Amino acid sequence: MNDAIKQTLLSPVESLRHVGRERARLLERMGIRTASDLLFDFPRDYQDLSDERPIGELEEDELQSVRGTVTEIAIANKGFGKSRVSILVQDESGSLRATWFNQPFMFGKFHEGQQLLLTAKPKMRGMMWEMSHPQITWLADEEDPLAGRKLLPVYALTEGLSQYYMRRMAWSAVEELAEVPEEVFPEELLRRYGIAPLAEAIRGIHQPADQETLERARRRFIFQELFVLQLAVSTRRALQRSLPAPPLPATTKVDARIRRLLPFELTESQNRAIAEVSADMALDRPMNRLLQGDVGSGKTLVALYAMLVAVAHGKQAVLMAPTEILARQHADTLAGMLEASRVRFAVLAGGTAKGEREQILAEIASGEINVVLGTHAVIQDSVKFKDLGLVVIDEQHKFGVKQRAALRQGDMSPHYLVMTATPIPRTVTMTLFGDLDISTLTELPGGRQPINTYLVEPDHQARWWQFVRDRLREGRQAYVVAPLVDESETISAPSVAEAFEQLTNGELEAFRMALLHGRMTAADKQETMDLFRDGETQVLVSTSVIEVGVDVPNASVMTVAGAERFGLAQLHQLRGRVGRGNHAGFCGVLVSEELSEQGRERLTAFSKSTDGFALAELDFSMRGPGDLFGTQQHGLPPLRLADLQRDREILEEARREAQLLVSEDPGLKHAEHERLREQMLKRYGEALDISDVG
Ligand code: ADP
Ligand code: MG
Repeated sequence: MNDAIKQTLLSPVESLRHVGRERARLLERMGIRTASDLLFDFPRDYQDLSDERPIGELEEDELQSVRGTVTEIAIANKGFGKSRVSILVQDESGSLRATWFNQPFMFGKFHEGQQLLLTAKPKMRGMMWEMSHPQITWLADEEDPLAGRKLLPVYALTEGLSQYYMRRMAWSAVEELAEVPEEVFPEELLRRYGIAPLAEAIRGIHQPADQETLERARRRFIFQELFVLQLAVSTRRALQRSLPAPPLPATTKVDARIRRLLPFELTESQNRAIAEVSADMALDRPMNRLLQGDVGSGKTLVALYAMLVAVAHGKQAVLMAPTEILARQHADTLAGMLEASRVRFAVLAGGTAKGEREQILAEIASGEINVVLGTHAVIQDSVKFKDLGLVVIDEQHKFGVKQRAALRQGDMSPHYLVMTATPIPRTVTMTLFGDLDISTLTELPGGRQPINTYLVEPDHQARWWQFVRDRLREGRQAYVVAPLVDESETISAPSVAEAFEQLTNGELEAFRMALLHGRMTAADKQETMDLFRDGETQVLVSTSVIEVGVDVPNASVMTVAGAERFGLAQLHQLRGRVGRGNHAGFCGVLVSEELSEQGRERLTAFSKSTDGFALAELDFSMRGPGDLFGTQQHGLPPLRLADLQRDREILEEARREAQLLVSEDPGLKHAEHERLREQMLKRYGEALDISDVG
């Protein structure tokens, strides 16, 4: 960017018309400091005035606007923080009531005689038109630059800043600066995708003449946002593959030796995944592979195979699990397989005693220990490997993007295999794990029993508990899952402690029960799990900490309370804890009185489908990405305009183009790509650890 342009865009926001010292201070609160910040502070919504009518000609439930004068203002306080502000607005054809619930501050915003534009879907209530929470434009006397517009921008505000002034300031920014920023995309790409050029899109998003102009502008910025993200992901991918890695081929001899140790005949998908993993590990570039597969599909065996390949070449392997319980469970599996072998392994977790830990660290450093299983503890600075060849990360979504970098070995990179049982919608995989190749386990190992899932209505709960007792008397074990409700939360659901209390003194009092939740110490959790696994405890009442991986084949029935709080993918994981042995699995979802219609729809879908991937897609489209898939949880900055689900077609295009561009110009050094490179590094340089590109 040339200096004069930079200067103009980076000048303080006060240099613009309509922005004085006081308003600049208000803007600063919203993070708007420079002229450019204001120019790129896009409206969060639009007031659609395309259907403006006299009040007398309104139609029910259509989005319409009316223009009138305020004749009455009232507030009703109903106690407990509940209130209702209502105003009466008149034009020549009739009058209309507008209401705001629980926004008492609205009362102070009106005065009689005021001219307003209101937009909402009106309803006829008792012979009177009513608009609930309409969008408002105050019509001032002075000439308004947006007068006559059919779509009015609605900006995010801060206290003390009115929409009216925000619009004027944004207007000045657009008038003075829309043409200044340089185009980000190469000419050719703009043409090929029919993308609105930058200046046109800036005008279109702030001051759309009509819906079509707005869509064209929005599409440009959505494409841009996703394109820059995909450039970053592709660049990271290229960088990761640029380091050398030790080639670790699974020769016929190695393969045969490992297979002799495996306790089962592998499924077809396990064999396919192993072939893909082996092909990667044979190269002198690091494997970066995501192994995804439904709960119980047998990912662990694939990982153990890969680890033993590394060990066969004299390398060390490490497996990171999200919890200590899981790390120890993997250790048990490994112990069973390695009884007759010389491979040495150790568990390293937060709960490992100091002396033992030091001993283990020394043996890892000397190479005596071949395989390390653990939690985050294995990526601490104090852990030095002699010769690390493979890193396996179980349940990748619990680890941040950057944590992997911590296991790099000088100039050499180990191979990486990350596993997830969380069915992830494709669009998210492409984004969060876009730097990984993917193997998928598509079948469950033979003999697995299907899990029958039921919605248990309030008046059928007694029967459900009878069913649970019957299973327990047959010698099976049971889980009861409830949320760890915090006091601040409002939805009523029993907390896990309450559920435990109620059941031990009620429906399940005849049985040996234990309570498990994430706030217990690691040692207590471990002991509780051990007792359950050994059958000492018959019923485990738990929070979702048992979600991942816990494997007790004798447990055949699960009850979930407060299920509406969990995502479907998470519920699917939870229910995968039962039906793991030779006994059919049952999952009862207790439905509460207050379950919303949408909540019921989701849970019904859950009870009917056993396909975790389909459930994840469904949840994603009904609830949005949510926490589980939130980009922020992975340490990525949030998307501003784009929505991975809604905009998935644009995402596919952006991904294709970005991959092409990075393969032609790795590091984006071409002059034509300079602005893209700038944007990519500014937004993702740190989060994705790609700052040193080129
Ligand atoms: P996940 O993919 O959920 O991590 P696991 O690796 O824990 O699944 O495997 C689930 C269960 O299936 C375990 O009890 C495991 O021992 C068993 N298992 C894995 N592979 C096979 C196989 N090929 N045949 C039979 N049982 C298997
Ligand atoms: Mg697992």
